[in-house]
Amino acid sequence: MLFDSHAHLASFPDDKLDGIVKNAISAGVSDVMCTGHEQIMNERTIEICARYHKMLHCALGYDRDCAKAYAGVSRLEIVRAMEGLIAGMLQQAAQKHVRVAAIGEIGLDYHYSPETAEPQKILFQLQVESAVGLGLPVIVHCRDAEQDTLEILSAVSGGGGGRVSCGVIHCFTGSAEFASKVLNMGFYIGISGIVTFRNAENVREIAKYVPEDRLLIETDSPYLSPMPDRGRVNEPARLESVARKVAEIRGIAYEKVAEMTRANAIRLFNCM
Ligand SMILES: [Zn+2]
Repeated sequence: MLFDSHAHLASFPDDKLDGIVKNAISAGVSDVMCTGHEQIMNERTIEICARYHKMLHCALGYDRDCAKAYAGVSRLEIVRAMEGLIAGMLQQAAQKHVRVAAIGEIGLDYHYSPETAEPQKILFQLQVESAVGLGLPVIVHCRDAEQDTLEILSAVSGGGGGRVSCGVIHCFTGSAEFASKVLNMGFYIGISGIVTFRNAENVREIAKYVPEDRLLIETDSPYLSPMPDRGRVNEPARLESVARKVAEIRGIAYEKVAEMTRANAIRLFNCM
């Protein structure tokens, strides 16, 4: 059985979801962490997690693209607006009896949006602090922003009563140095279909050396279909290709990869 630790199922049209869930079950996927990333998608994520509650787990958050709305806005105003949004999303989940298993995805992307670095940092930090307050793990996106990501995670980890005890750097494409630092902080590393791409030697190196108890696998559906389906719409059923590649790289059985990554996800997200 496989645990897809990151998929945006809210991005799919409603009439496709039954098929996607069926395909996932046929492919041996038992669990999917369904991640929101902005207002509408958070609401839809709650809805579909309620509908397919046996298989889907719910993560809610406001990602780097949400920072665009706050360009030039003062820190105080952003804090106020975000506090309202976070409280609202948690309340909606509670009303639908959906357990929020993680805050995410959240994080920094200076590759695509360097111009919104300042509001991105504020959004990210606030949500990491919320997660600490709620005792929830964080699902973190990081692209070309390793230094600031480490600073925010360690500042929150180190100070003021709370601590980020856990979280995952999802769809890991970072440096070996960054991997070793986040592992030292207690984080997990999520390996996506990129691990099957021809030019992704750096991701394969990471997938090989992440300790057995810190490795997660994910599809990041509908993006990043693994080989041999690269370029097609991705869905959790394709997680098998990621697991097979990780097994090949580590020189261990496919079943072992399935078992350990599923156990890790259950431990991190407290999903049983
Ligand atoms: Zn994602």
